[in-house]
Amino acid sequence: MTSPSLPAAPEPLATEVFDSHCHLDIMVGERKASSGDQVALAAQASGTGVGKILAEARAVGVTRLVTIGYDLRSSQWGARVAREHDDVYAGVAIHPNEAHAATPETLAEIERLAGETRVRAVGETGLDHFRDWASHEDQEASFRAHIEIAKRTGKALVIHDRDAHDEVLRVLADAGAPDVVVFHSYSGDADMARRCVDAGYFMSFSGPVTYKNAGYLREAAQVAPPELMLVETDAPYLPPTPHRGKPNAPYLIPLTLRCLAEVKGMDADELARVINENGERVFGAW
Ligand SMILES: [Zn+2]
Repeated sequence: MTSPSLPAAPEPLATEVFDSHCHLDIMVGERKASSGDQVALAAQASGTGVGKILAEARAVGVTRLVTIGYDLRSSQWGARVAREHDDVYAGVAIHPNEAHAATPETLAEIERLAGETRVRAVGETGLDHFRDWASHEDQEASFRAHIEIAKRTGKALVIHDRDAHDEVLRVLADAGAPDVVVFHSYSGDADMARRCVDAGYFMSFSGPVTYKNAGYLREAAQVAPPELMLVETDAPYLPPTPHRGKPNAPYLIPLTLRCLAEVKGMDADELARVINENGERVFGAW
């Protein structure tokens, strides 16, 4: 790594895998981080760019990534970067925290973007009952609109679920879930994982599964069959152990993957192979 403040690169994987959820725009400073957002500020201060992020990831076996939108600007930016880079795919959506901005005009533009070839997901959408930046009513209305966009465009639905597990499952069942549903940065326990398995929903595990105090996430990972597992960074946020407090990036995926493999009692390369196959079932042919 060029900057001493950034985490060292882990041992490369022998089998390629991908990052199902990151925010390239925040990492590269396309979107200036707020003063309280320490990891994003550190990522931006490192002067990284999309090409460098992809090269550093590729060097450890992380050959593709999905950059995820959270408002109109990040969705438009992600769709454009996905058109420009072979190994980048995009998700487009209005985040539940921004649900008040999900006007009919904005949602129409999200749907237009979702129809693009290089855009493979409608997300992140869902419900956030931890931050009440948007009312629960606005969040549910926006979530339902995104569910319909995912169904009409045939793209995967990528869900942000923060302290709203039961409500998210209720809305999905009530609205009728799209063919492919992914719980991003899966945060439920083993019981929730069983409900996801029953419904055929994918669980995308992130850095917190490596945290000492997150035994419930490892219990959930034990329940999740490899065929329904994905791995992600949510970079620049949620770096895996031992890099908490530092900026996350796709090249740190091997740390989270190895933790998951240990939990599953699997060889890391075998789990990487299964997750990579899941990628094409979730996001379509690469
Ligand atoms: Zn995210």
